[in-house]
Order: sequence, then C-alpha cells, then structure tokens
Amino acid sequence: MKIIMLGAPGAGKGTQAKMIAAKYGIPHVSTGDIFRANIKNGTELGKEAKKYMDQGLLVPDELTVKILLDRVAQADCANGYVLDGFPRTIPQAEVLDKALAELGDAIDIAIDVDVPDENIVKRMSGRRACLNCGATYHVEHIPPRKEGICDNCGQALVLRDDDKPETVLNRLAVYHSQTQPLIDYYTAKGILKTVDGTVDMEEVFAAIVELLENK
Ligand code: ADP
Ligand code: ADP
Ligand code: ZN
Repeated sequence: MKIIMLGAPGAGKGTQAKMIAAKYGIPHVSTGDIFRANIKNGTELGKEAKKYMDQGLLVPDELTVKILLDRVAQADCANGYVLDGFPRTIPQAEVLDKALAELGDAIDIAIDVDVPDENIVKRMSGRRACLNCGATYHVEHIPPRKEGICDNCGQALVLRDDDKPETVLNRLAVYHSQTQPLIDYYTAKGILKTVDGTVDMEEVFAAIVELLENK
C-alpha cells in the first residue's frame, strides 16, 4: 500500500505515519527527516536545504523530488510506504505520479489530517524532536517518559529551529498557498480521505486504520 499523508505543519502527519509504518510493516518516508539528517551530517544537500527550512520556505522541487524518488526506489519500499511531507506542491505530486505510472503503479490513498490553524502554533511550540532517531513528542500531549530525553534512544530532545512561532506562521502561509491545492488534486483522483486531527492521537489512528482496512 502506498500512502500519502497531507495536512498543515504540525497536524500530526509524522506521528500518524510512524504508527502506520509500525502496524503495517512499511517504511515511513519523511523528506523533512531526510533533510534534517543531511543538515546534521553537514552534507552539501543539508547546507542547501537549511537555507530554505530556516525561513519556513519549501526546498526547491528539483532537489526534493530527486531525493524522494531515490528513496522510494530502494528495496524496502517495494511493498509500499507512507510518505510524510511529500508531495508539498502540485509539481511534486505530478512527478511522483508520472514515475509510478511508468512502473504501472499508483498511490492508493491520500489522507488529510485536518487541524485548524488556531491549534497549530500551540502544537508546534510544544513539539520536541529527537534529531538522532526522528522521534517526536509534545510537552503536554505526548511527553517523553523522562523530561527532555528521547524514550527510544536516550538523546536530548530539541525545539526545532523552524518550530519557533515566527517561522511557524510562514510555514502555515506556505502550506495554504502551495500545499493545500493538493487536496483538490487527490480529490479529483478519487483517493482523498479526511480525518479529524484535533482528537487524541490514538483516536486519529483508529480513524486512519478504519480507512485503510475498508479500502
Ligand atoms: P512538518 O512535519 O512540521 O510539516 P517537515 O519535517 O515535513 O515539517 O518539513 C520541514 C521543512 O523541510 C519544511 O518546512 C521545508 O522547508 C522542508 N521540506 C520537507 N519536505 C519538503 C518537500 N516535500 N518540499 C519542499 N520542502 C520540504
Ligand atoms: P507533522 O508531522 O504534521 O508536522 P507531528 O506529528 O510532528 O506533525 O505533530 C506535531 C506536534 O503535535 C508534535 O509535538 C506531536 O507530538 C503533537 N501531536 C501529534 N498528534 C497529536 C494529537 N492527536 N493531539 C495532540 N498533539 C499531537
Ligand atoms: Zn531518539
């Protein structure tokens, strides 16, 4: 099964994508995680991506598409995957569809995790990320067992640079202008489903599992 997660920054795409990946045994592919890993390792790609990410802007399509297509061509993606944070523009979606079509393949479902803007800034300021293993927590809603420390790997948790309120507002504006049109794009293809992202993460997950099992 090939799944796309849509939704505003902070809607809970990553949280749900990890749960889907664990339940169905498919990889969680996050372009944001790939960029952050490159920044951490000081690669050229990381240096280039950071210029955009720090301002809350999208990394250019050319760079992003290449990275994503390379990733989904790897052997572990053969039985499906859950994409989190890609596509974020119509051209990205078109390139992905074309690449899949050439293999006689297609995306099965696009799940929009719906959370209003009012909830987003608060969610983001409470988000804490592990830059070592990619785990995500929330200081109030989803706290780690030990404050400031990753449950999985024991590293220190951080507030991402781009989760500061000023940058979050830019990211929301970018979301509305460049990413939200994908909702119409996948609706037109007949594969868009929406879940309410404002409820507890277990409830959101139950709604997603229901959609996936009834497909
Ligand atoms: P969030 O999960 O909060 O939405 P991500 O980790 O997905 O954030 O993305 C962080 C940043 O990485 C984005 O603001 C953007 O700069 C960059 N990025 C991630 N995915 C893409 C993409 N598909 N296209 C362009 N830029 C991207
Ligand atoms: P995205 O990948 O869409 O940017 P995340 O999955 O990183 O979003 O979630 C954003 C923040 O909100 C994180 O701090 C996460 O722990 C928290 N969060 C995720 N799902 C929920 C939920 N259903 N209720 C409350 N907080 C949540
Ligand atoms: Zn960790």
